[in-house]
Amino acid sequence: MRAIVTNPAKKNSVKLVNLPKPVPKRKEALLRTTCVGIDGTDREINEGLYGTLPEDSDHIVLGHEALATIEKIEETTSGFSAGDLVVPTVRRPCQENCLNCRTGEVDMCLTGNYFEHGIYKLDGFASDYAVSDPRFLIKVPEELKDIAVLLEPMSVAEKAVTHCFKIQQRTRWKPKKALVNGAGPVGLLTTLILRLRGLEVYAAATRTKDSQKSKIVNCVGGTYVNVVETPITELKEKFDIIIEATGNVSAALGTLDALGANGILCFLGIYREKLACEEFGKVLTSMVLKNQVIFGSVSSNKTHFETGVEDMLKIKRRFKSVLNQLITNKIQVHKFREAFQPTHEEIKTVICFD
Ligand SMILES: [Zn+2]
Repeated sequence: MRAIVTNPAKKNSVKLVNLPKPVPKRKEALLRTTCVGIDGTDREINEGLYGTLPEDSDHIVLGHEALATIEKIEETTSGFSAGDLVVPTVRRPCQENCLNCRTGEVDMCLTGNYFEHGIYKLDGFASDYAVSDPRFLIKVPEELKDIAVLLEPMSVAEKAVTHCFKIQQRTRWKPKKALVNGAGPVGLLTTLILRLRGLEVYAAATRTKDSQKSKIVNCVGGTYVNVVETPITELKEKFDIIIEATGNVSAALGTLDALGANGILCFLGIYREKLACEEFGKVLTSMVLKNQVIFGSVSSNKTHFETGVEDMLKIKRRFKSVLNQLITNKIQVHKFREAFQPTHEEIKTVICFD
């Protein structure tokens, strides 16, 4: 079978290879991959910045954002049958099976010894076939077939929003205004989720106001801010929620002044740039005097994927084909290299296996 693999120890080693079709263990499902989405993490693994090989292997199959069909399943009690459309979750419980991992919050693992398909010690789904424990599969309705490959990034956005609301149970809280900094797939999906929740949403990014990203934000009733013209520090508004999804330290720090009283700021990026914040005392004082919360959020668990399915159905009903507009590039497997050299107008590139 065809598989897109890389070795995180060797920069730019992504290649298409032929591998034996995997044989599922008794309780596992054999999946036939429909397509995989490629994101910054896949590109960073290929650049050697991230990722760990499975044990005794010299490559890792990429692809943690996948849509697949169940080809074969033995276990009749799993609730799945052959032909079901599914999205696999990414993270799997740690070796120690810690309290959080064994109670379904694998995204909040206590030991850090978890596994992640296509990222950390487990092969991903960028191959004609793959196997998965059915307990980590999400059934997808046929009506979401053309957009369900976005469910993994959607689940990351759902977790961030859910945790904002959970944390803010500390106070009587009815958030009105939100800022999403960064309009990649996760930023745009967060914008859609917050609009569904009835918030006034500003989404900020560097692309122009006639870009596809800007059009998507406007079409769901959000306000697009081109930060090249209007830096966030010049916005007059104060926000109850800020979701920071740029992964850029300066951009992230620039949002702090826009956070209102009792506000909550969630960091979703991986901030590789080492930049000292000279005014950290001012940041801490502002947090204290305004009861602010700053927190980080990574990965997601099954409940966030399930909420994602419900919200995708609602978005489709309310905003029609807006989710389809996020998928800007669909390419066939043999052209996989194009996914690692994104074009300027790219939002999400999907590699199709069928
Ligand atoms: Zn754990």
